[in-house]
Amino acid sequence: MNLAGKVAVVTGGSRGIGRAICIRLASMGALVYVNYVSRSSAAEETATLIQQVGGRVEIINFDVAESTAVQNSFKKIVSEAGSLDILVNNAGITRDGLMARMKEEDWDAVIDTNLKGAFLCSKAASREMMKKKWGRIVNISSVSGFAGNPGQTNYSAAKAGMIGLTKAMAREYASRNITVNSVAPGYIATEMTELLSEEVREQIKKEILLASFGKVEDVAGAVAYLVSDDGSYITGQTLHVNGGMYM
Ligand code: NDP
Repeated sequence: MNLAGKVAVVTGGSRGIGRAICIRLASMGALVYVNYVSRSSAAEETATLIQQVGGRVEIINFDVAESTAVQNSFKKIVSEAGSLDILVNNAGITRDGLMARMKEEDWDAVIDTNLKGAFLCSKAASREMMKKKWGRIVNISSVSGFAGNPGQTNYSAAKAGMIGLTKAMAREYASRNITVNSVAPGYIATEMTELLSEEVREQIKKEILLASFGKVEDVAGAVAYLVSDDGSYITGQTLHVNGGMYM
């Protein structure tokens, strides 16, 4: 699986699942732009890890929910790197709470980052991809978008929305040789799932056929497949990486 000569942008690539995706795509030969919003130290660590294995990397700071920042950042990437071939919409947040008590601002923050962010970045990236008549977009959804999760009405709605976005985009962009797919992770060990209590984590493990949380590399492998030549005839699909907790 060779991505030499390709330029990839991974939103929220500085830590967790995004970091593993960045490392994987760089190890396949892509020049990877690691995006983050607030924690520059994490982005620098990711860049160092990539450089240590001889990969090519740049860091780019923008908020995926800020339209102007997104447009300017993608213009900068294309002018600097001369191309943009792969976009992974991975940036995501949670603001959990039962719906009856959920603040409107928590609803808006999750929809804006997780769903509108994917729309804004895809729109910006696809301009260059359409010109080149080649592109790969992967949206990181979630099992919560399929099964629904109590305490996560905002997050489940955003992640289900990403599936509709994926399918509609796949239909719009196929004629330009741009594939658009989703990866829907189950529970993966990252800072996001560290927010869950030990009790909740043990309860969740009972629902996972493979009986443990997944690794960030499990998700990175699925993304790598979809953006590689092996995945070139796949579009509008969702690859579930969840240890069998949802099927
Ligand atoms: P983390 O919380 O570990 O990392 C989140 C990343 O997103 C960070 O790089 C963060 O940057 C970035 N980010 C957050 N908000 C923005 C923003 N507005 N603009 C740009 N970047 C932003 O998350 P995970 O690695 O656990 O999750 C990654 C993706 O996978 C998310 O979309 C999540 O919903 C999804 N997912 C995760 C699962 C899991 O079990 N962990 C399960 C299913 C789906 P910074 O550090 O600067 O804030």
